[in-house]
Amino acid sequence: MDIKKTHDIGTLGPAMKGQKVTVGGWVEDLRELGKLSFITLRDVTGVSQIVVAGPENLLQVKDLSKQSVVLVTGAVQESKARDFTFEIKAEKIEILSRAIHPLPIDPLGRLESGIDNRLNARALDLRNQKTASIFKIRHNVLLCIRKVISDNGFLEVNTPKIIGSASEGGANLFSLKYFDKQAYLAQSPQLYKEQLTLGLERIFEISSFYRAEKSHTVRHLTEFTSVDIESAFMDYTDVMEILEKLIVAVFDHVEKNCAEDIKNLGIELKKPQAPFERVTYKQAIEELGKQGLPLAFGDDLLDSHLRKLGEIHPGFYFLTDWPLKLKPFYIHEKEDDPIVSKSFDLQYGYLELSSGGRRLHDPVKIKARLVEQGLDPMQFEDHLKAFDWGMPPHSGWGLGLDRLMAVLTQIDNVREVVLYPRDPERLFP
Ligand code: ATP
Ligand code: MN
Repeated sequence: MDIKKTHDIGTLGPAMKGQKVTVGGWVEDLRELGKLSFITLRDVTGVSQIVVAGPENLLQVKDLSKQSVVLVTGAVQESKARDFTFEIKAEKIEILSRAIHPLPIDPLGRLESGIDNRLNARALDLRNQKTASIFKIRHNVLLCIRKVISDNGFLEVNTPKIIGSASEGGANLFSLKYFDKQAYLAQSPQLYKEQLTLGLERIFEISSFYRAEKSHTVRHLTEFTSVDIESAFMDYTDVMEILEKLIVAVFDHVEKNCAEDIKNLGIELKKPQAPFERVTYKQAIEELGKQGLPLAFGDDLLDSHLRKLGEIHPGFYFLTDWPLKLKPFYIHEKEDDPIVSKSFDLQYGYLELSSGGRRLHDPVKIKARLVEQGLDPMQFEDHLKAFDWGMPPHSGWGLGLDRLMAVLTQIDNVREVVLYPRDPERLFP
């Protein structure tokens, strides 16, 4: 059985008239008109019409089910069909794989399926051009992120996902049996990336992390992809600038490289401009007070507060200088106002995309903060010892890639932009 193609469909065109090619792909449509049959054949690069004639070939494709895989050899010719500029006149057709009928979902999206049915047949859902476009864009976003962060002098690293102690407190850690020991799945690379600034100064990681939270929202998954950076000799405002430049670069890159995919999604990119607005926590609670949502300094912002702030600031904006007591133990205070922290969230309207800040690098202060938060410094021994080996001042952030993708593609549910999402209910496929 021949299985190799000479061309991807996307590389063909009417200028190749007369050239003999072998293409392979999935049958999207089959119209049988007596002496001729027409197949719409799609591969990952494009779509073509195949003209089938002659008794042997017609018999081959008779009643061929949609999404079956075929290899077609024939000559390129101009097409009179409305949707095609060229077609292939089949000389030889090989059926490589037959799809069942009916399929669990209509991959063309003519019959709309609910998200659960589509996720249950995710591989097939990717034959839907809208879905495929989301993941082509995601690939481009990742390419751009790697390039931009690397160009800023950061080194890509991989930290462990199986960890031996509950870092950062750990109410929402998944635990697992690790032979005869207890282990956990990492919820973030926080402690490792801080330690690595001692050895490598500027590092970043793009990876899955795990949160055992029973959140049933369109923005929470139990397994999500995070982009993390950490840099020595930078303050929190420096890493905020890197983050906003990165976001702008991602939109530019997608605009330049994914025009077809953006069109498939039926959207227009909403390109942001740097600098993003900076709103301090104090300003935010004043704004909320004026809107009839009074808060005292130190109160956390609940969903309702973030929704209201999102109405006032609908695009990208930084929410900065949070009360220190609302922030994790490793966050640095403001030197001139120590109940306030050097911290920020990047918001898109109500949605939090990233959290970051300046970190403490004085182990005495870190231990005091751990105790304040009811954590046991002994549990952090392995982490804290690095702070006696010449730990530089450092800052960083973690950016939720899935949430960024949702904003970019203007899709509400993060499940749409993750191939096989995991949430409290979904563990398969
Ligand atoms: P939230 O308050 O929205 O639950 P968080 O403050 O707990 O988020 P961080 O620990 O600050 O999250 O993580 C950094 C970023 O990682 C978040 O801003 C978000 O974009 C992303 N993120 C965190 N948890 C999840 C999750 N469960 N699913 C998807 N993305 C997440
Ligand atoms: Mn956060």
